[in-house]
Amino acid sequence: MSLDSDGPLFQEALRLISDTPGYEAIGAELIQLAARGRIRIDAALPDRAQAGLLGTITLGPEALEGSPLSLAQTLVHEQYHLHQNPFLKTVSFWGGIFSRTPVMKRYEQPAYQAAIDFLEAVGKAHLPLAREAQSEQDAIRQVFSSGYGGRLD
Ligand SMILES: [Zn+2]
Repeated sequence: MSLDSDGPLFQEALRLISDTPGYEAIGAELIQLAARGRIRIDAALPDRAQAGLLGTITLGPEALEGSPLSLAQTLVHEQYHLHQNPFLKTVSFWGGIFSRTPVMKRYEQPAYQAAIDFLEAVGKAHLPLAREAQSEQDAIRQVFSSGYGGRLD
C-alpha cells in the first residue's frame, strides 16, 4: 500500500523534521522519498518500520498509531539506515534472521542514536514538545537496552 502522503499525521511529522535546526536536509530527503512513492505502509509489518535494501522505508501500523513526533523519530531512524554501508545492511539483514546478534546491534545502535539526537534537538527547538521528546527518548533507550543489551548516549 502506498502511503497517504497528504495525511495529516505524516505531514506534521515531516514538518517537524524540516523545522528542527540541523534536520532540514533530512526532512527534504524524506519529502522526496514520499513524493517518489518510496515510503510505504505495510499493515502486516510486525516491526515498527523497516529500511529496505532498495532505498525504501516501510512503516508498520505501530509507527502510525502514535503522535507526529513519534512518527518523526521513526522516520529519522529509518533515514539513517538508508545511508549505512550496504554491506553492513546486507549482513545485518541475514543476521536479523537470528536477531539480537552483535551484527544487528552494530547496525541498529547508530540509528537509535540518530533518533535520540533528533529528539534532543526537537526538545530544544520546540519547547511545547520538550516533555514528549524526553519521554520518547526514555522509551527508545528502554527498547534498545532490552532488545540489544546496550546503552545509548
Ligand atoms: Zn533500525
